[in-house]
Amino acid sequence: MAGEANADCLFCKIIAGEVPATVVRETDTTYAFRDINPQAPTHVLVIPKAHYPDAATLAAAEPQITADLLREAGVVAAEEKLESYRVVFNTGSGAGQTVFHAHAHLLGGRGMQWPPG
Ligand code: 5GP
Ligand code: ZN
Repeated sequence: MAGEANADCLFCKIIAGEVPATVVRETDTTYAFRDINPQAPTHVLVIPKAHYPDAATLAAAEPQITADLLREAGVVAAEEKLESYRVVFNTGSGAGQTVFHAHAHLLGGRGMQWPPG
């Protein structure tokens, strides 16, 4: 069924507590934890508890949860006292997506370049 946990998915395992993570926030629909390979002083992954392979698929199926995800990214940014930050959804392997469970990268705490690499 759409959104059901996937036994082979790393982020579903993190949500289930089967793989340890440093959790920073949890709501009924979202989970936020620190990236294991941080690319900035703050690098938090904000994910839906429901399993969808990427952000656009999530948005098509679950607009409310997508809004929850973006709101939570903002809440984490405020808690981390970030005045500026970047929210990134890598979509597709060519764009650097390696985990196919939708996730927002919240990055902050250093200067950011544009365009991104
Ligand atoms: P993507 O490359 O799919 O956009 O992002 C996946 C992110 O997950 C990467 O930034 C990577 O460092 C992070 N990651 C991969 N494995 C783990 C893990 O076991 N724990 C945590 N906390 N992050 C992970
Ligand atoms: Zn998953």
